[in-house]
Amino acid sequence: MIAEGSGPPDYARLAGWDRDWEVFSDYDLPTYVGPTTFGSLPWVTDPDEIRRLGVDVAVVGAPFDDGTSHRPGARFGPRAIREAQSASGSLNSLQLDVEPFEVLTVVDAGDANIVPSWTQRGHALIHRAVRDIAATGAIPIILGGDHSITWPSASAIAEVRHPRSIGIVHFDAHADTGPDLWGVLASHGTPMRRLIESGAVAGRNFVQVGLRGYWPPVDVFDWMRAQGMRWHLMREIEERGAEAVIDDAIAEALDGADAVYLSIDIDVIDPGMAPGTGTPEPGGMLTREVLRAIRRIVGAVDLAGMDVVEVSPPFDHAEVTAAAANRCVLEAISALAVKKRAGARIRFEPR
Ligand code: MN
Ligand code: MN
Repeated sequence: MIAEGSGPPDYARLAGWDRDWEVFSDYDLPTYVGPTTFGSLPWVTDPDEIRRLGVDVAVVGAPFDDGTSHRPGARFGPRAIREAQSASGSLNSLQLDVEPFEVLTVVDAGDANIVPSWTQRGHALIHRAVRDIAATGAIPIILGGDHSITWPSASAIAEVRHPRSIGIVHFDAHADTGPDLWGVLASHGTPMRRLIESGAVAGRNFVQVGLRGYWPPVDVFDWMRAQGMRWHLMREIEERGAEAVIDDAIAEALDGADAVYLSIDIDVIDPGMAPGTGTPEPGGMLTREVLRAIRRIVGAVDLAGMDVVEVSPPFDHAEVTAAAANRCVLEAISALAVKKRAGARIRFEPR
């Protein structure tokens, strides 16, 4: 009891709260505490600041899903992917034996300036955000968002790297090369068509992995063949194994383009392991096969940029889809760290 007239009560002392507690930085706190940034890394949205810091990798969100044809929700993907991580502070990649954030300078560059229900504006602002980051020399990693965001995102990187070329290694159950969907050109079923038509990426520098199911129709494959695109059906992975197919995909990715943009539609993973997607297609890759493929591809090619798309958290009560997407990004960053530790330059020096 505190006596009358003895000054303000000291409840902290009474409860034992007045000790000299150790406090932690946002980076070292558990990931559910404090601001939600990727890896609890600094939130740096100003391209001039990203340039000044000499950032190697900048993660940026594209919370846009107005291009979906079926189940929506990928607008909630970037935040869910940022949240789907329990380890905090300086991470240690057991698979690659590297502490990625000790080797690389990585920041979260925030989200593109998206409003709902305005596809052209959304794509324009995603293009702008990715272009401004790429122009600093940092490697952008874009958190989708539905797959339509790869059109503005890869276009921006092709623009900044011109006249050097980029190729695309594209993991997906779907080819996303439709001419249109119900007359819509900017759908999530059409971005790869737009990229090739515009000249941003040559068809012969396009490699697809994991296609299966019942779409697109035969005439679309005829068009793809005519562009010189190369693809590996899920059937081939079943017959030959992921390791052999990824060997071929790496050789094809290195054949032609100066650098590679990696696009991961999380629905390439079997819906049993990644149920929260817009267009689930049974019979897909294992999560571990995709994570290993990312480590191997990033280790082998010059990475120009990357996106992880189609994570729709409302269709996944257990958050495993977002966790898989989060690890896709971490595996790529860790593979880049291994390269930098060995003396490779990760950043791109624009003209
Ligand atoms: Mn897709
Ligand atoms: Mn897909």
